[in-house]
Amino acid sequence: MSDSYSHADIALILKALKFAAEKHKHQRRKDAAESPYINHPIEVAEKIWNVGEHGDVNTICAALLHDTVEDTDATFEEVDRLFGKVIGDMVREVTDDKSLPKAVRKQKQVEHAPHLSLGAKHIKLGDKTSNVKDIHNTPPPNWSKERKVEYLNWTESIVSTISGTNPKMEKVYFEILTAARQSLENDGK
Ligand code: NDP
Ligand code: ZN
Repeated sequence: MSDSYSHADIALILKALKFAAEKHKHQRRKDAAESPYINHPIEVAEKIWNVGEHGDVNTICAALLHDTVEDTDATFEEVDRLFGKVIGDMVREVTDDKSLPKAVRKQKQVEHAPHLSLGAKHIKLGDKTSNVKDIHNTPPPNWSKERKVEYLNWTESIVSTISGTNPKMEKVYFEILTAARQSLENDGK
């Protein structure tokens, strides 16, 4: 990873962080404490940078923005205009089409993962790692054990199709997955 970044690089990352924070400002995660939603895209970007050591600024910005179009009133046109087409296209790659039924969307994620760009694959890895960690440590309180197990299995089916993208991130993902499965086995909830 190059450790030389320009003023413009840092400015773009901060602009993406500010935009995502503004767009997600009324949203909360599904955990009992209702944590601020923005914690999640920040964690995805942070894992790509610190664990994956993938120092591509466009990927870091797209990671910060990855749920804005899917979950807020942000549009692809807005993201393109503010952050350029490279970042906009990466956000498109990781955005589900919410007009489709949920089961279809989930299946499409599995099918599309191997065809994603390198940056988008890193976002997938960071996203699934963050969500599995949340299922393990701060789960939605109303989820049954079966729902958690199904969710974990689904993330594994995606991560398995992009094996080799980033061994360090994959190692961390599988460690968290194993811990989450073990505690579900042990606690039974
Ligand atoms: P959802 O899509 O409803 O919820 C998971 C998503 O919520 C994550 O991908 C994440 O998305 C976001 N999220 C927010 N807070 C948290 C948190 N604390 N922990 C984890 N994720 C969080 O889940 P699914 O519909 O995928 O449900 C999982 C499985 O359960 C599926 O396989 C489904 O078939 C099944 N299911 C079972 C039901 C039941 O009652 N038994 C009902 C519905 C589904 P993001 O990265 O975008 O923030
Ligand atoms: Zn996400």
